[in-house]
Amino acid sequence: MSHSHNGVTSIDGQPCLNFASNDYLGLSQNQEVLQSYVEGLAQYGAGAGASSVVSGYIKPHYELENLICELFNKPAALLFSSGFAANQAIVAALFANGHNDDAIVCDKLMHASFIDSALAQKAKLLRFKHNDLNHLSSKLKLASGNTLVATEGVFSMDGDMGELAAIAKLATVRAPKLDSFTTQKSVHSVHTMLMVDDAHGFGVVGKNGLGVCDLDEVEPNDIDVIMATFGKAIGTAGAFVACSEALADYFVNFAKHYIYSTAVGPAQALASIKSIQIMQQSHLRERLHENIAHFRTLALEHDLPLLRHKRRDANTATAAGAQALGATINTSEYSSSAIQPILIRPQNDSGGISQENLCVRASKALMALGIFVPAIRTPTVPKGMERLRVTLSAVHTKKDIEALIDALCISRTQLGW
Ligand SMILES: *Cc1c(COP(=O)(O)O)cnc(C)c1O
Repeated sequence: MSHSHNGVTSIDGQPCLNFASNDYLGLSQNQEVLQSYVEGLAQYGAGAGASSVVSGYIKPHYELENLICELFNKPAALLFSSGFAANQAIVAALFANGHNDDAIVCDKLMHASFIDSALAQKAKLLRFKHNDLNHLSSKLKLASGNTLVATEGVFSMDGDMGELAAIAKLATVRAPKLDSFTTQKSVHSVHTMLMVDDAHGFGVVGKNGLGVCDLDEVEPNDIDVIMATFGKAIGTAGAFVACSEALADYFVNFAKHYIYSTAVGPAQALASIKSIQIMQQSHLRERLHENIAHFRTLALEHDLPLLRHKRRDANTATAAGAQALGATINTSEYSSSAIQPILIRPQNDSGGISQENLCVRASKALMALGIFVPAIRTPTVPKGMERLRVTLSAVHTKKDIEALIDALCISRTQLGW
């Protein structure tokens, strides 16, 4: 695949409209971002040259961390080379000296980078059904030691949002929070921390584009660890963790992915700063949300089987409260994020084809029409939930989206779903 430009990419030499990228605002191609990158290269060179704890940490890192602290109103932030590394590091560092009665309680649909690290710890891994608060409560009852509760902001495969405000309430009711588990390990007191991975929300949702922490119903101070990547809507690479000073100090001393890894390239850090500024100040997010609305309207008009979500208003008391105050909360049962899953199903007369094969065939049929929409298969999604996953971007035009809808309808006729 060659690089993507204005929503067009090329696969094996065939040009196609790209509905498979997480570059939701097109910032990876933004001239000002590229200019910052180039200036950063000229000023600081191609790489950091060492780990942050040796000599790799310089001014652009400090400035990017500071910007994150300001935006999220958190006292500290740390940069990681990727979101994958950040998630692995957070879990591993928090539970490195853990006990068997410690627990990691997380949404069933958490990203592989989190789950893999959680499985490797002594702590119990307790997964609650997606966005199911009753199930979360029952899992919390099984957790007697230090507990990390984790969810995503915008879920990567479903495009819906974690019930963060309600989860925060459950987590605080259970036990007092502490800056770091380790500070009180010796007296074996029990603490609960809440973490959110907002890889797909950062730059996309919220008043200021900061993600789910920026929604009316969520209080960022209730969340101990906010993690997101710069590799998606920000269009560069690397990731951040925003937290308390004590927790950041702890990670600097115990998170191996931080200590034993070369610092993020300084030029990349500068480009990320520029990109975040553009994300906040430009009309790109507005354009993205217009595209999302356009796609949703057309898809529903054409009876395309968009994935249905549990309605937030039915689940969250705080959402109802916020609505009474006139705040805007998405209560639709369809995704309001850039991620739009289409749950195509074989019809009775499609010759016994499996859901997975149908998705792969539909993706190929779309490609033949010049439209790139990936098929998402198991184990990324549960069996029977294989799907087409459309991701929208601010760089798509209305016509691009109409071409996508047409192609989906043609593939439906061709394959009988
Ligand atoms: C992409 C993603 C990550 C990993 O981020 P990278 O910076 O790409 O390594 C972590 N969590 C979620 C939910 C993601 O979608």
